[in-house]
Amino acid sequence: MKLNLDPDRKIKIPVDGGKVEFKLKDIMAVPKEKISLKKDFDPDFTGGFDDKAGALRQVAANVDRLAEQQDKLYAQDTYSLLIIFQAMDAAGKDSAIRHVMSGVNPQGCHVTSFKAPSSLELDHDYLWRANLALPARGMIGIFNRSYYEELLVVRVHQDLLAKQKLPPETIDDDIWKRRYKEINNFEKYLSDNGTVVLKFFLNVSKKEQKKRFLARIDEPEKNWKFEPGDVRERGFWKEYQQAYEDLLNETSTPESPWFVIPADNKWFARLAISEAICTALERLDLKYPEVDDARRAELQKIRAQLEAEDK
Ligand code: ATP
Ligand code: MG
Repeated sequence: MKLNLDPDRKIKIPVDGGKVEFKLKDIMAVPKEKISLKKDFDPDFTGGFDDKAGALRQVAANVDRLAEQQDKLYAQDTYSLLIIFQAMDAAGKDSAIRHVMSGVNPQGCHVTSFKAPSSLELDHDYLWRANLALPARGMIGIFNRSYYEELLVVRVHQDLLAKQKLPPETIDDDIWKRRYKEINNFEKYLSDNGTVVLKFFLNVSKKEQKKRFLARIDEPEKNWKFEPGDVRERGFWKEYQQAYEDLLNETSTPESPWFVIPADNKWFARLAISEAICTALERLDLKYPEVDDARRAELQKIRAQLEAEDK
């Protein structure tokens, strides 16, 4: 599938009483263009739009659009969709998944959350566990975190590499470059074989993350979400931003580009994510399987039998 990746392409999202309009490059690390996370992407960006309720009504409409596309995806049984979410803690991955996928038939969709690898997983190459979780044809697979952690947490905390049981000669300065290449090759292979890979980096600001951590401490019903370890990782903010910027520059490809979703306003993030998923699926021009004449005749015969039953 080829997405239209013109950086200046206008994204127009209809909302009650008007439309939200911005350029593709406002929410995408356009392949082959070098981006600066800090200069090119504002976590608070909303395309000059501030009607949260209107935006959420459009998200609801997109949820219906997505349900329709998913039904066809499943029926056609040719393509699959892999949606990857990566972000700093409290950027809203979980709630984005919950809201955007709320209309999708649970039988056609599978969410996998990738945590620190188990000892079984460490006994395999790093793409092994991702392979096990890939969506079958007709299915939507969602990765809540992914093999990209290999270029994020593992790069920021390089002591993790030592635990990966890798051949010592492979642990050198080029390991990250090789991983970019391995991942690009992997995604190209998936794309060539019918899996559309969409990648969303939820770009939250340090200030907004602090606000959300404080809410997790102050509001009893959010206490369970708070993990002291998340605050420790916040201490490595700069290192993570650099790791994200590098991976956006190295792994945003024409087959599977990275969306950089402004995440300080959850309503805008949901609008942008739902719009991107619907647009990508609609570009596949999915169709219900065609019924040939013989099959149509058979259906008519069975229909006549059913009609005749009660007589
Ligand atoms: P929640 O919103 O529930 O906290 P989460 O995605 O943060 O969701 P956690 O169980 O808190 O889930 O965190 C998963 C942890 O696993 C993260 O800190 C992440 O960096 C780590 N992790 C994921 N993949 C790897 C990997 N390949 N190597 C090392 N650590 C990893
Ligand atoms: Mg966590």
